[in-house]
Amino acid sequence: MPLPDVDVRVRPALAGFEPYDPAFSPCKVNLSANENTHALPRAVREGIAAALVRTPLNRYPDPLANELRDELAAWHGVARENVMVGNGGDEVLFNLLFAFGGQGRRLVVAPPCFEEYKNFAKMCETEVVEVWRDEQSFALDEDALVRAASDAALVMLTSPNNPTGDLVDPALVRRLLDETDALVMLDEAYIEFADASASLVPWIRENPRLMILRTLSKAFALAGLRCGYLIADRSVVDVLAAIRQIYSEDVLAQAVATEAVRSRAEFAPVVAEIVAERGRLVEEFDRLPGVTQWPSSANFILVRLPHAAEVRARLRDEFSILVRDFSYAPGLSDCMRITVGTREENDKLLRALHRISEGE
Ligand code: PMP
Repeated sequence: MPLPDVDVRVRPALAGFEPYDPAFSPCKVNLSANENTHALPRAVREGIAAALVRTPLNRYPDPLANELRDELAAWHGVARENVMVGNGGDEVLFNLLFAFGGQGRRLVVAPPCFEEYKNFAKMCETEVVEVWRDEQSFALDEDALVRAASDAALVMLTSPNNPTGDLVDPALVRRLLDETDALVMLDEAYIEFADASASLVPWIRENPRLMILRTLSKAFALAGLRCGYLIADRSVVDVLAAIRQIYSEDVLAQAVATEAVRSRAEFAPVVAEIVAERGRLVEEFDRLPGVTQWPSSANFILVRLPHAAEVRARLRDEFSILVRDFSYAPGLSDCMRITVGTREENDKLLRALHRISEGE
């Protein structure tokens, strides 16, 4: 018999939360979760296999994953003390709110954006202030963001943004840093798919209130591994180091992540292919009747089309292609988010969309 009053016993800030639902159904082509759908490059796969064989499982991990931190630090031109890893970017986000949020503090977000910012903030009893993007263009309301940030503990912006695909203008980050006292977290989970100059990691050195989130789940094709990291001022990293789950990054994840980051040059052709395919999809979507789309610097494209929920269901049920339906989400009526897949996967998607639009 279930405990009848569990909702009363649970910590009030946590009552009513539901388990995360990725809206997954088994399909031949999965373009729903912004993963990198390409196989790992062969050399990387071989390096990972060798690293796994060398990794003892009977010993606890290095809690701070220092070998991995060193590899990430070397890549980004920062010190080990500027890098903190976590069990996916999600853990890092949670820890940021755990550390810098809390009762009486505010987080500013700019929806539509990654929902977990808000969920983690609520779990950590942090008030969420939403500065909505323009309904049509999804442009950020920069003045309203600066105003809201002026009495906030934290601002979380996403560049490129999930699900709209646009980059944050560095001038806005400059304003937030200059005109407010908030900590500014820029989530660059998808930045490898944007122009090389788009990342604000180089700003870290001069701006101790700026923090950049990155992940190996996207460009590095390691979503199943669970490895994300923050690049920030060492004082911020010290706080995160002190409050994190001590062994959240296990030995296998540390070994695989270190090898993948060391072999990062191997991923460049895959990322270039995804960027080229994104361009092709944009051109092809333009040929479909009734489709609106927004320019994307990420590995996905947000599209609006008549009867999106029904189109998504037909793609799934008749063509075994899964995309992400956002038609129910505030501000995203009739929108779907489509991950850029391999050339073959994209061809299948385009054929299916043409057949649906021709009324077959
Ligand atoms: N930030 C954004 C914007 C995301 O879309 C995601 C994953 N969907 C994450 C962070 C977290 O990614 P992960 O936990 O896999 O590193």
